[in-house]
Amino acid sequence: MAECLFCKIARKEIPSRIAYEDRQVVAFEDIHPQAPIHTLIISKAHVPTFNDVGTDEEALLGHMMMVATRVAKDKGLHEKGYRLVANCLESAGQSVFHIHLHLLGGRAFAWPPG
Ligand code: AMP
Ligand code: ZN
Repeated sequence: MAECLFCKIARKEIPSRIAYEDRQVVAFEDIHPQAPIHTLIISKAHVPTFNDVGTDEEALLGHMMMVATRVAKDKGLHEKGYRLVANCLESAGQSVFHIHLHLLGGRAFAWPPG
């Protein structure tokens, strides 16, 4: 946990471009953006993957989604649309083992995803 990259970002031990923050979450710009807008919404609490969430995290997960929609609106993405992504484990592309949502926007996205 002490060594977790996103815990360090949440504690401001590693700098990030913060778009939104409250008691439960931080939203900051992805360092390798995959779209003109690529913001990550992380929990402040360390939860490694979506496999590890239980009823205790139910409100947190709802809040993360609400914050994602709020940041999308703040960035003007709500008019044309945007994509929210949550990768769980390696085969889905998870590389940081601390739960987060990707907010992607500013271009069109293909479906099915790669
Ligand atoms: P995932 O692959 O779904 O676990 O997403 C992790 C994301 O974190 C990737 O899109 C990375 O580009 C991003 N990332 C890794 N290190 C940093 C960092 N120091 N600041 C911001 N984003 C980061
Ligand atoms: Zn963590």
